[in-house]
This record gives sequence, structure tokens and C-alpha cells, in this order.
Amino acid sequence: MYLHADGKPHGITESIVGKLTTVPIQEVSGRLDYIAYLQPQNLARFGDDFVGYAGLFGPSEIDLDCPAHLPRILGCKNLEYLGDGDVLLLLPTGRVNVLYRKSSPHNSILTTERCNSLCLMCSQPPRAIDDSYRVKEILRLAELIDPACKEIGITGGEPTLLSEDFLRIIQKFKDCLPNTALHVLTNGRLFKTKGFAANLGAIKHNDLMLGIPVYSDLDYQHDYVVQARGAFDETVLGLYNLAESEVAVEIRVVIHSTGRIHLSELSLRGPCRAHGNGNVRLCEFESRQALDRPCGLSSRIGRSYAQPRPEGNARLNLQPSTLHSSSIDLAV
Ligand code: SF4
Repeated sequence: MYLHADGKPHGITESIVGKLTTVPIQEVSGRLDYIAYLQPQNLARFGDDFVGYAGLFGPSEIDLDCPAHLPRILGCKNLEYLGDGDVLLLLPTGRVNVLYRKSSPHNSILTTERCNSLCLMCSQPPRAIDDSYRVKEILRLAELIDPACKEIGITGGEPTLLSEDFLRIIQKFKDCLPNTALHVLTNGRLFKTKGFAANLGAIKHNDLMLGIPVYSDLDYQHDYVVQARGAFDETVLGLYNLAESEVAVEIRVVIHSTGRIHLSELSLRGPCRAHGNGNVRLCEFESRQALDRPCGLSSRIGRSYAQPRPEGNARLNLQPSTLHSSSIDLAV
């Protein structure tokens, strides 16, 4: 499934966020949230009355009797699955990004491509770019998502690098979508600042969960995996600050060839359970081949932070059943 495609742009001078409708909106004043979805079968319904829509979108390059300045992207293929209520971003280049699919229970929002870690196994290595423009689009998106949406994922990069804007986004989702759960994937490092954690707690979102990975109970192993010295200490401090601010946390234990977790000794039980609002989740078990395969990312990118100590190289040799027998609450 493609989540973006390109078509022929007309009259678009800045990015436009809107939700699709195949049914004409009667009141012109109520059209600004909508992008008219022009398909051959519904074109007649709209007639030539396109005034007030945020934009027009369609798979075919049709000749429309409309003002030249009316924003539109037509001839956009490969997005046939779209339907009413889906939210699109239209760009001046003719690029169309699908921001939200109403029919899917798995919608995630990319907040930034920047990150303060550089994990060995990152599926989307961070980029040092200024993509702060996303904030405005995300705040607008919150206004357009279906209020019945059950859950939205907030991802990065590292979302907390947005700092105050991260808090604005959480507040906006609380205001616009009070019944929608938010699941934020974060490395948790910036919550080492007590005030930041407290400000997040002060929003009092009624269904917010932060998913924070811990790769080892040994600081240098965790730091090696995330390629950032001191990251373990920051994350653990963050967990305590979040617990104190009554923010729910899911500790995501990613089983990794360079890591070693003694679940029965996991010292994070304290913050996780402090308010009875946390989980420990085993996220992934690497295959034997993956455990045996050296990861060369850090040498490829020519950067070196914390290195694993020899005694930390003993391979994880636990079976899932062993891990499940831990005394820690697990949600797998
Ligand atoms: S914290 Fe997440 S986004 Fe950042 S480098 Fe690690 S895996 Fe990638």
C-alpha cells in the first residue's frame, strides 16, 4: 500500500491538510476542512461548485470548469484505497501524503526525523534536518481525524526533541480527540529534566502511554545499542520523573544480541509500577542468525560512542519461556 503518490498540481502555493469527501458539502462555510475527492463516478454530484473546499484531489486528469487558482492535485494514481474521512497533505510539488486512514486501526504520525540517539538497528536512521514545519501540519491533522478513532501512534525520530511543540501536540490531541488513546514512541532521555516530565503530566491526558525501550540492565550495553554515552542514565532518570508525574509508561524490552536483561532484577520495576500504570513489554526476539550476525552500522557511519566491554559480549541464551517466568508483569 502506498502512503504517498504524485499527481499534477495546480494553484497550490503552500501545503494543504484536509479530509476527503466524495459527497458535496452543502454549506460553503463548512467546506474548509474538506478536500473534494473527484472520481469519475461522483464528478456529476459536485457539478462545478468547488468554492470553499481546501482543495481538490482525484486519480484522473480531468478538465474542470473552476478558477485556475483553486488548489488541486489530479492524475494521482496508486491511492485508490482512499475513502471519506481519510486525511491528506497536498504539496505544491504535486506530492500527496496520506496522513490518516479512517478505516485503519494503525495510524501513526511522524513528528520529526531528528533523533538524539543513533541506534544500531534503527529502521529509519535519523536525519539532521529542520522539519519543524511538521508541527503545524500535525496540529491541523488533530482537528480533522475522526473523533471515533481509537488510537493514534506518535513516532519519530525522537518526538520529544520538539520540546514545547511536543507538549502542544499532546494537548491538542487531548482537546480535539478526548476519546483517542495516544501511544508515543520515545527514548525517554529528555524526561531527565523533571520540569519537562511534569509539564507532560500536567496535561492530564486520560489515555496517554509512552513506549520507552531499554536494551540492557547494564548501562554501557544500553549506551552501545543506542550509540549515545550516558543515554541509559538519562532514560532511567526520565522513567522516574515520568512516574512521579503520573505519566503511564510501557518499558519496551527489545531483546538484542548485544544486550543482557535480567528481568527478575530489572531495576525499572520501581518507576514502572509506581502508579500502577505501566507495562513491561517484550518487543522482539532476534533469530539465532541475527544474534550471530555482526552489526556494522556504527563502522559504516564512522561514528563511535560507547563500546561494549568484553564481559558484555556473552550472547543472550534465554528461551522465551524463561523470560515469561519472570516475576515482572508482562504484556507481550
Ligand atoms: S531512538 Fe528510535 S529513531 Fe532514534 S535512533 Fe533509536 S530507533 Fe532510531
